[in-house]
Formats: sequence, C-alpha cells, structure tokens
Amino acid sequence: MSKPLSEFYTAGRTALSFEFFPPKTPRGETLLYEHVGRLMACQPDFVTCTYGAGGSTRDKTLEVVCHIKQQYDIPVASHLTLVNSTVDQLRAYLQRATDNHINYIVALRGDPPAGQRVFQAAPGGLQYANQLVELVRDEYSHFGIAVAGYPETHVEAPNPQVDLDNLKRKVDAGADVVITQLFYDNADFFRFRDRCRAMGITVPIVPGMLPVTNLQQVQRIVSLCGANLPAKFLARLRERPDDASWHFDVGVEQAIGQAQQLIEQGIDGLHFYVLNKSQATMQILSQLALHPTDC
Ligand code: FAD
Repeated sequence: MSKPLSEFYTAGRTALSFEFFPPKTPRGETLLYEHVGRLMACQPDFVTCTYGAGGSTRDKTLEVVCHIKQQYDIPVASHLTLVNSTVDQLRAYLQRATDNHINYIVALRGDPPAGQRVFQAAPGGLQYANQLVELVRDEYSHFGIAVAGYPETHVEAPNPQVDLDNLKRKVDAGADVVITQLFYDNADFFRFRDRCRAMGITVPIVPGMLPVTNLQQVQRIVSLCGANLPAKFLARLRERPDDASWHFDVGVEQAIGQAQQLIEQGIDGLHFYVLNKSQATMQILSQLALHPTDC
C-alpha cells in the first residue's frame, strides 16, 4: 500500500520530487542512473519519469521508474498521456504499472503529436486529462494521482478562468496533487495559487522548477510552453551569450532566490525538472537546507 500522495505535503515541511525523462541512448541511460544516484543524497520524497510525446517511450518510462524503485526503494510516479492511445491501451499501461508496484500516476493529456496543431483524441481514446483521472480513480484506485497546472495559463486555453475551471475538473475527478508547469516569476505562481484556492481547489499545489543551465535549451522549452523569462534575468544571461558556465551560475543563483522566496511564502513542496542531470539541483538544494542531507 503506497503512502497517499497528499501526505507528503504536510504543514511544516517542503516535500521534494524530481522528474526524469526516458533516455534515448545507452550512454544517456548510463548518465541518467549516475545522476539519479547522486540526487538520492537529497532524499527526495518520490521521483517521476515523463511519458514520451506520442507514447513512443512508454516501455522506457516504466523501465526507468521500476529501476529507480528497485535500486533505492523510493516511491515513484509514472507520467501517462492520452496521445495515440485507446482506452484499452491506457488500461493495459495502468495494469502494467500496477503489476510493477508503481505508486503514483501523473495523469496528462499530452501535447498534439507532431504535424497536428490541435489535439485530437485517438480513435477509441480520450480527449482531456480529467477523463484519464476518472479512469484511474474508477478502475485503478490504488494509484495516487498528480495533474498539471499552469501558473501562466495553458497555451491553448482562451483565458485563465477557463483553464482554472478545467483544472478544477481534474481535481474534482480525483487528483490528489497539482504540479505546475515551470515558471520564473513567483508572482505568476502566487496569483495562480490564490485563484485556485478562491475557487475551491484545496489539494497541494506544487511549484515546478526548471533551473536554467543552458540559455538556448531554456529558450526552446519556454517557447514551447509559453513561460515568461523576466527581462532582468534574461539580460543577465545575455551579458555573456557564449559562456556556458556563466549561464549555469546565473541560472542556479536565480533558482536559489526563486525557491527561497517560494519557501518563505509557504509552499507545499518543490518539483524539480532535473532533465537527467544533478549538478544544478544539488547546488540549489544545498543552499536551501530543506532536508538534513549531504546534497
Ligand atoms: P488538459 O488538462 O486536458 O488540458 C489541455 C487543454 O484543454 C487546456 O487548455 C485546458 O484548459 C483544456 N481543457 C481541459 N479539460 C477540458 C474540458 N473538459 N473541456 C474543454 N477544455 C478542456 N507531456 C508529455 O507528453 N509527457 C509528459 O510526461 C508530460 N509531463 C508533464 C508534467 C507536468 C508537471 C506538466 C506541467 C506538463 C507535462 N507535460 C507532459 C505537458 C502536457 O502534456 C501539456 O502541457 C499538454 O498540452 C496539456 O496536458 P494537460 O494534462 O494539462 O491537459
């Protein structure tokens, strides 16, 4: 029996989770597990692994979370999206996750597959993440469920209120926790959280953090998900456009300041998009003194 997901987020402590992605090459896999090993010193409460666009990496996602669970005896969450899957295929995945003692599911719609501008449910599939939450709640109720929230509003939503109504639908369907999209201006997060609370979303809302370690990479991610990089922060990064170690240091410093302010103002937890690396996250956490760690 897994610890209920919401129980990590109790008053007086900041829960910690790390998100990995399935490696594409044997070298990537070796590096992933090296970094996972180092990150365990930070004593995360649980870790997650993304589900590749198009469902292309579904076997690998399960393999990564199973490996980490076996190696470190830590709770794990598999992300799962609706892309290119019938309901029966979603059920089959959830059954395999059950058989492998996966603890939690991060229930997502997924982005439209390459070549599609608008998300279309696969024939015999589902259209929105709230339907996946319902499926998991109804048929695989042993899983804790996390869903995605968007401090700066999901790119396809016509306005923030509609997006929040849709988030509430996911929570009402049975989600235990909301993990947010990355953001760099805490005001966006606090405004989002206040609005969630005002409309009766009471589950933990966990900020997702992606420390900048490479300007080009972050600009690409930000252009995909619509997050805003504050002008001052961007200007500092651009002071030395070709200096990778400068970007790393400025990004880590910004993330420490951002996380410190989030913790001071009271958050349920922190979710790090670690991108299969450990240096930045460990440097940030060592400054935050969240857990008694060797981090
Ligand atoms: P939904 O909640 O279904 O929302 C999608 C859009 O539809 C929104 O604009 C929403 O407002 C609207 N909407 C929702 N419900 C309804 C409804 N009932 N009626 C009308 N409109 C509605 N992507 C991956 O491919 N793999 C991953 O592993 C992955 N992990 C992620 C983890 C986190 C923490 C986050 C924040 C995102 C992740 N993503 C991942 C990206 C995510 O799949 C995309 O942002 C996707 O475009 C939306 O997914 P969703 O689950 O939020 O969708």
